[in-house]
Amino acid sequence: MTDADADLLVECRRRLRTVLPELPSSLDELRRRMEEVRGRRIELTMTDPGRLRLPSGLWGQVRSGAVVHDLVWVDRRTSPFARTVVACHEFGHMICGHEPDPAPAAAPEPVSALAADLALDPAHVAAIVGRCGEPCAPGSAQWRREREAELTGRLLAQHILGSHV
Ligand SMILES: [Zn+2]
Repeated sequence: MTDADADLLVECRRRLRTVLPELPSSLDELRRRMEEVRGRRIELTMTDPGRLRLPSGLWGQVRSGAVVHDLVWVDRRTSPFARTVVACHEFGHMICGHEPDPAPAAAPEPVSALAADLALDPAHVAAIVGRCGEPCAPGSAQWRREREAELTGRLLAQHILGSHV
């Protein structure tokens, strides 16, 4: 872990404690607590995307009429351990106050793939952030956003997984 990571970790730990003073002990509890924090519905879904090309996890915002809800999607074809880590990463974005990127009108992958998998109208997917494996330039805003989500997600996942040992 680099110095930059150590500083970020301190910051993430402090932010996490502010948003969730008591850490949840299950993914469903995390989902419910974040619904209260965000004041909107959060759908957590794990599916097998088959041959669709999707990252291992996504956070999207789905609009139906005037109502927007959060959608956390996780590829179910991994271990329960990995699924927890991926889901916590996406919740980590919310806890860090990130906003997903507005979905372009032309719904590219992964928006169209996710919409197909969940039988959603791609036009209703308002914004999305994928769990990117692709490297971002270190120090860039995007790099920092992913590191924050990763470190926060790891703190959450450690707690949740530790609760079931
Ligand atoms: Zn991410």
